[in-house]
Amino acid sequence: MTTHPPERVVIVGAGECGIRTAVSLREQRWGGELIVIGDEPEAPYERPPLSKVGIDPTHGADSPPIVSADRFAALDLEFIRGATVATIDREQGAVVVDNGRAVPYDRLVLATGARARRPAIVGGEAILTLRTVADLRKLRHQLTPRARLVVIGGGFIGLEVAAGAVERGCEVVVLEFAHQLMSRVVPAMVANVVELRHREAGVDLRLGIGVESIDPVGTRYRLQLTDGSSISCDVVVAGVGALPNTELAAACGLMVDNGIAVDSHLRTSDPAIFAGGDCCSFPHPLYGDRRIRLEAWRNAVEHAEILAANVLGGKRVCDTVPWFWSDQYELGLQIAGLHAAAVHDVVRRRPDGAEVRFGLNYDGRLVSASGVAEGTSIAKDIRLAEMLIAHRATPRVTELADPSFNLRSLLKDGRGEG
Ligand code: FAD
Repeated sequence: MTTHPPERVVIVGAGECGIRTAVSLREQRWGGELIVIGDEPEAPYERPPLSKVGIDPTHGADSPPIVSADRFAALDLEFIRGATVATIDREQGAVVVDNGRAVPYDRLVLATGARARRPAIVGGEAILTLRTVADLRKLRHQLTPRARLVVIGGGFIGLEVAAGAVERGCEVVVLEFAHQLMSRVVPAMVANVVELRHREAGVDLRLGIGVESIDPVGTRYRLQLTDGSSISCDVVVAGVGALPNTELAAACGLMVDNGIAVDSHLRTSDPAIFAGGDCCSFPHPLYGDRRIRLEAWRNAVEHAEILAANVLGGKRVCDTVPWFWSDQYELGLQIAGLHAAAVHDVVRRRPDGAEVRFGLNYDGRLVSASGVAEGTSIAKDIRLAEMLIAHRATPRVTELADPSFNLRSLLKDGRGEG
C-alpha cells in the first residue's frame, strides 16, 4: 500500500462523523476530490437536539446543521444526497449507489452510524422510534397536550422524550425492564436523581416491567404488560438502544464485531477502508485494548479528526476518553470514561448539593466519572476527571471524596500519571 495522500476520498454517511471528516480533511489542506454520499434527504444536521428542544414544536421542524451552508459550500465536495450506497466493490475500489452509479475511491470512509432498535413485540408496528428528523416529524405532531404517551425503555433518548412530552402537557408513562433507569451506563446514584425528577414532573415511571403485546383499539393502543396489567395510550415510542449499520461492510467481507471492526487507527480489515462513529468498534488503550463501540456525539467528532489524519497517511491512535451528556428538564448529566470498567466507587459531595461519582478499577486507576446537576455545574469536575482518566491517574480515595481538594493539582504534581 502506497503512503502518498489519496487523490479521491469517498465518505458513506452524511451524519456527524461523515461530515466532520470532510471538514477535517479540508482543514488539513487536502485538495483532492471529495465525495460524500448520504441516504437522508435533509442537509446534514445535528442529532442530539431531536430528543431535546426538538420535542417542542416552537423550535421549528429542523435540527441545526452540522456546518453552516456557507461552510458546507466551501468544502468543495460532491454531495450525493438522499442516495443509499448499496454495495462496495473492493476489487474495483468503488462503491455502488442504489441508482447503479459506481463511485470510485482511493480511500473509503464508512460513517454509516446506527439505527434505532425496534422491540420485538406482537403489534410492534405501532411503535415509533427517534433517530432522524423524519422520525421526529412523525412523533412530534402526536405529542399534543393531554395525549397519553408510553415510552418503552428508560435510557437517555426515552427519558429525554419523556421530559419533553410531559413539559408539553402530555400524560407520560415510562416502562423500563431493568430495576434502574439508564442502568447500562450510569451508576444508581445518578439514575436515582433522574428518576426522582421525572416522578416530580408527573411521569408515571414503572421499573421492572416490559411490554408483551400492543393491540390497536380505534385510534388508540392497548399494551399488555409483563406483570399481567394493561395500559391504554395514544402514542408508543421506544428508546431501547441502537444497532450499528454494518451490513454494507459485512457484505463486502470486512470484519464486523459489534460494529465495523477497526484497529486503533480506525482502519478496517481492508487498508483502503476506514470507519468511525457509531458504526464501528475499536480497541481502546485506556481499557486494556477492549473493543468498544460508542454511540456518542463527541466520539463521532473525535473519530472524524482521527479519520482525516489517517486517511491522509497519518498514524493517529484513537485513545480519547469517552464522554457523553444528556439534558432532561433543567438537569445536565455527564459521564466521562466507562462506568462498566469500575469496580469501586467514590462519591464527592459538593457544597451545592450535587454529587460526582468516580469509578476506580482493580488497580485503583480512575476509569469513570459521572454526575447529574442543574445546568452544567458538575462540568468542571467531570472535565478534570476526564484529564485524569486520560493520564491513567491513581488518585487517593480521600482526594476524590474531598470537595475542597483541587483535582487539577494531581495533574500538576505528576501524580496524575499512572
Ligand atoms: P449518524 O449520525 O447516525 O450518521 C450516519 C448517517 O449515515 C445517517 O444519515 C445514515 O442514514 C447514513 N447511512 C447509513 N447507511 C448508509 C448507506 N448505505 N448509504 C448512505 N448513507 C447511509 N450523543 C451524545 O453524546 N449526547 C446526546 O445528548 C445525544 N443525544 C442523541 C439524541 C438522539 C435522538 C439521537 C438519535 C442520538 C443522540 N446522540 C447523543 C448520539 C449522537 O447523535 C451520535 O453518536 C452521532 O450522531 C453519531 O454520528 P455518526 O456520524 O456516527 O452516525
